[in-house]
Amino acid sequence: MWQVIGQDKITDSLKRSLADGRLAHAYLFVGPPHVGKMTLAITLAQALNCPAEDKPCGECRSCRRIAWGKHSDVQVIARAETETRRGSSVRKEISIDQIREMQHNVSLKPYEGDQRLIIIDGAEHMSAEAANSLLKTLEEPPPSTTFTLLVVDEGSLLPTIVSRCQRNRLSPQPVPAVKQALVERWGVPSERADLLARICHGCIGWAISAIDNEEALAKRSAHLDSLISLSRGDVSERFVFAAQLATQFGKDRASVGKQLELWLTWWRDLLLMKNGCVEFITNTDRREALQEAAAQYPLSAIGRMLKSIRETVQQLEQNANPQLALEVLMLNLPFEREANYA
Ligand SMILES: [Zn+2]
Repeated sequence: MWQVIGQDKITDSLKRSLADGRLAHAYLFVGPPHVGKMTLAITLAQALNCPAEDKPCGECRSCRRIAWGKHSDVQVIARAETETRRGSSVRKEISIDQIREMQHNVSLKPYEGDQRLIIIDGAEHMSAEAANSLLKTLEEPPPSTTFTLLVVDEGSLLPTIVSRCQRNRLSPQPVPAVKQALVERWGVPSERADLLARICHGCIGWAISAIDNEEALAKRSAHLDSLISLSRGDVSERFVFAAQLATQFGKDRASVGKQLELWLTWWRDLLLMKNGCVEFITNTDRREALQEAAAQYPLSAIGRMLKSIRETVQQLEQNANPQLALEVLMLNLPFEREANYA
């Protein structure tokens, strides 16, 4: 059974190619983080090696070894993490050595099964040398080997690599489909499944990882609490917050990006509340706080704040001074009482 949720067009096409023995040498799976690219690649690896009639069975020795990451013919190449001098961790580029090691492996016959699958996770983060070296392998593909390149941003890949791959875009799934999968396949209670389905923005991998991970939800909750208290705070509190966030940005850009994404969902929810579209809000567990906050702001103030958050995200991506950008965002954060008169 293909474990991937909601990507029927892609899985149907892969199933047909497998049945006809016409699998491409290389596939590009494009989509946002946690949308299911790795699950799709792993399922393809299982289908390639599974002896059952209805492949992949998910239960045979081969399927299980692939799921556990133990199968010697399925190799995952990913960016290694390294620690910076400040104590935070960053991910390195995929190196030429990693590609060379893979090239050596594919020059040998598959060891456990008939087919080998190479998964390059985050292929857009290969060094220039690594990318050029991989291109040579894709130009003269070794027998019994399929490549899958998993990417968020295909624009950062060499066009010559893209042109050697069959491209598949995985789309985020609608809330009802994610919710249904969480309830039926993972046994998540309905209300919690609904919340997870909304906050994962259609990227079910995140929702699945959050099922038993209280920390992820607790962090989100703490960020929402600080956002609400900041909306009621004075200018000096807001500037202290901007400075803290700027320091955090220096250590861990992604976590600040996630906080701003959360801010966007909050202000978007306020906009939906104002327009009477409560059923579409993301933060369903904060319905009351949203209702209260929505009553405090006119539509124009909510619209301005949404615009300001988007601009801040863009400026941070373009390497603007983080403290300055975040201070401007704080200055644009409307005061509840003032907003009543705006
Ligand atoms: Zn199997």
